[in-house]
Amino acid sequence: MKIAIAGAGAMGSRFGLMLHESGNEVILIDQWPDHIKAIRENGLIANFNGETIVAQIPIYAPEEVASLDQEVDLIIALTKANQLDAMFNSIKSLINETTHVICLLNGLGHEDVISKYVAKEQILLGITMWTAGLEGPGKAKLFGTGEVELENIEPAGADFAKKVTEIFTEAGLNAVYSDNVKHSVWRKACVNGTLNGLCTILDCNITDLGTQAVSENMIRTIIHEFATVALKENITLDEEEVYQHVATTFDPNGVGLHHPSMHQDLIKNNRLTEIDYINGAVSRKGQALQIATPYCDFLTSLVHAKEGILKAK
Ligand code: NAD
Repeated sequence: MKIAIAGAGAMGSRFGLMLHESGNEVILIDQWPDHIKAIRENGLIANFNGETIVAQIPIYAPEEVASLDQEVDLIIALTKANQLDAMFNSIKSLINETTHVICLLNGLGHEDVISKYVAKEQILLGITMWTAGLEGPGKAKLFGTGEVELENIEPAGADFAKKVTEIFTEAGLNAVYSDNVKHSVWRKACVNGTLNGLCTILDCNITDLGTQAVSENMIRTIIHEFATVALKENITLDEEEVYQHVATTFDPNGVGLHHPSMHQDLIKNNRLTEIDYINGAVSRKGQALQIATPYCDFLTSLVHAKEGILKAK
C-alpha cells in the first residue's frame, strides 16, 4: 500500500518504519529541517527494542509535497492535535477520491478537521497504545509493545478499514478492527483528560498525582464531565470502569513514575499542548450543549496560562 505519514515525529517514525519494513511504499512528511536532513543523509535510525534499524524512507517538507505529483492510498495522521489542520492544508495534492485517512492522534474531534479535506467515507479513526520517542533529528527510540484499534466513521469505509487492519497487523502493529472506536477514543481521552493536564499543572508524575487524597475527586469529576458530554454523542462511558482504568496507571511499578506527554511537551520542552483537543474539546462541546464542565474549563485555562508563562511555542 502507498502510505504517507503526515507528521513523522516520534509516533510517525514508529508507524512509518514498521510499515516500510513490512513492504509498504511509505513516504514521510515533516516540517523539521534537521530531521529531514538527517533522514536524507543517514536514513531513519531507530533503536528498536535495543536493536539498531536503519531505514531509507523518502521524507519531504510540506512545501515540497505539491510538486511530487503523486497520490497515496492511505495517509496516517500523526501530528500533534494543534498542527493537524496546517498539515492537511499543505498535503492536499496527495489526496484523491480513493485516498483514506486514519487519524491516530490523542484527543477529540479530529474528524471534523479532516473532513474539510476528504469525504467522511474516507476517514478512519483509531487509538493506539504504542509509544515512541525521538532521541534527536532522524533518531527514534521505539521500545515496548502496543496495539491499534481502528474503525471507519461511515459504513462505506468498512472494507478499507479492514484492509488497513490487515496491513498494520502484518507490520507487527497488532491492529484490531473495532465495533465502536468512538467509545475507545472517548475512553482514552478520559485518561489523557485526567492525567495530562493535572500532572502538568502540578508538575508531578502519575504516581504522585494518584496518591494525593484530593485526586480521586478531581479525577472522578473530570470523568463525569467527559461522560455527560459523550452521552450527547451517543457514547456511553461507564464512569466507574473509566476511573478504575485511570487508577491502574498510578502504580509506580507500571507507568506511574512517568510524566504524561503533556508534561513533557510543556514543562520539559516548552511546547504548546494538546489541551484544546482534550479538556478544551469537552468544554466547547459542553458549552454548545449547555452542559456545565467547570473542571475542564478551569484546567484548560490553567494550562493555557502555563503555556503563556513559559512562552511555549
Ligand atoms: P511529535 O511532536 O513527536 O510528532 C509530530 C510531528 O509532526 C513533528 O515531527 C512535527 O515536526 C510534525 N509536524 C507538525 N505540523 C506539521 C506540518 N504542518 N507539516 C509538517 N510536519 C508537521 O508528536 P508524537 O509524540 O509523535 O505525537 C503525535 C500524536 O500521537 C499526538 O496526538 C500524541 O498525543 C499521540 N500519541 C503519542 C504517543 C507517544 O508515545 N509519543 C503515544 C500515543 C499517542
